[in-house]
Amino acid sequence: MVVSQGFDAALAGVLGLLVGSFLNVVVYRTPVMMYRQWLNDAVGNLAKVDGIPSLWSLVFGPKANTPPALEKAADDAAKTLDALPPFNLSRPASRCGHCGAPIRFYQNVPVLSYLFLRGRCASCKASISVRYPLVELVTGAFFALCAWRFGLSLTGALWAAFAALLICQFLIDLDTQYLPDSINYILLWLGLIGAAAGLTGVSLASAVWGAVFGYLGLWIIYHAYRLATGKEGMGYGDFKLLAAMGAWLGADYLIAIVLVSSLVGAVLGSIMLVAGKLANKNIPIAFGPFLAGAGLVCLALGPDTVRQWIPFAFPLGALAL
Ligand SMILES: [Zn+2]
Repeated sequence: MVVSQGFDAALAGVLGLLVGSFLNVVVYRTPVMMYRQWLNDAVGNLAKVDGIPSLWSLVFGPKANTPPALEKAADDAAKTLDALPPFNLSRPASRCGHCGAPIRFYQNVPVLSYLFLRGRCASCKASISVRYPLVELVTGAFFALCAWRFGLSLTGALWAAFAALLICQFLIDLDTQYLPDSINYILLWLGLIGAAAGLTGVSLASAVWGAVFGYLGLWIIYHAYRLATGKEGMGYGDFKLLAAMGAWLGADYLIAIVLVSSLVGAVLGSIMLVAGKLANKNIPIAFGPFLAGAGLVCLALGPDTVRQWIPFAFPLGALAL
């Protein structure tokens, strides 16, 4: 029993290393894809398109025309954007960020390549961030844990996906202060589907209420804080992320997630303070990494363990129908 359990975990762990390698790509490329899309939208909305009323006239009235200089600049920008080579999760092939040398498949083996190359690009010897192998190791560990706990099953795969998506959001928000909708929505839908299929151990009602109150709870705190202080402490991405996690863990879990996230924030904040990353105290730390980190902590400890450790955080247990 334990032997096959260990075998499952090892197999899933290797798969997790490979997925972690892909997550590094997702974390780096998703924001760039998002920025491109935003610029495309902005330019497309200003450029002249025959037969479609300009955004300018929709805002300033039917007789208003887009200022010619703006329209000309938008047309030029649209052409420049069109000429850009494709950029998505599969193209272009991975390159060294420093010298542009293509990364061969044998230089892309999770963790091992990093060790073999001693953390340097094979061509230009520029150092490669230790974050890449770390992400691979952490993803591998979560995959192994899910297989250990649930076997090589749909449930195990689902919780492994939960970990992978949270790792993405954790890093992307840390890097950019954004939580891409594309990833939040996959997380939300998977959580709801998992509950509906009876795979996450949370009733569908509890998952739906978890999503609703996760979103609403932070929405209310956000607007109350904004009215009281005139500052914005978080963003809509945070509401969606907590909603998604509510769908996975259930409505009664929301307070526990927020409590654990403040703990993660304290630990992460201290680490960054020691590492000197918070030199400029005016740059706010995003809330998203703490939320995503809390989800990962709850998964690592086991949702039921958290329930036993901080039972006072589950007063809404009655909602877990
Ligand atoms: Zn290089």
